[in-house]
Amino acid sequence: MQIPFSGGCACGSIRYVGEQAPIATINCHCRDCQLSSGAPFASGIVVMTADLQVSGTPRTHAVRASSGGLATRSFCADCGTPLFTSSEANPQFTSIRFPSLDDAAGLKPMLDIHTASAQQWVCLDPAIPHFAGSPQ
Ligand SMILES: [Zn+2]
Ligand SMILES: [Zn+2]
Repeated sequence: MQIPFSGGCACGSIRYVGEQAPIATINCHCRDCQLSSGAPFASGIVVMTADLQVSGTPRTHAVRASSGGLATRSFCADCGTPLFTSSEANPQFTSIRFPSLDDAAGLKPMLDIHTASAQQWVCLDPAIPHFAGSPQ
């Protein structure tokens, strides 16, 4: 992965540039990530919100997170690509959906979270930590 890195949605309406290397790479198996990704789990990279520049205007959908605060999902209103998640509890961080990166070479997940709601047929990588809920 080259820094700065870039990415965007399938139709190109929304583009982003990140100025710093990701802080973490996470697979989340919570029900909301399953629904918002349309996949058995969501893979995301976590960056500082201040280091991310977005062009275009994603549509958003806010849901109540297990922590109690709101989690806001951003996606392209034209093509539907899921792009970002931010949380009321930690607004300094933004999670970017892994598949939207232009070049994810060399990046791989560091941990799996909310595995209590993982689909039963998903194979979790035994080489990385798993958390049944949110890591503390
Ligand atoms: Zn799009
Ligand atoms: Zn999740």
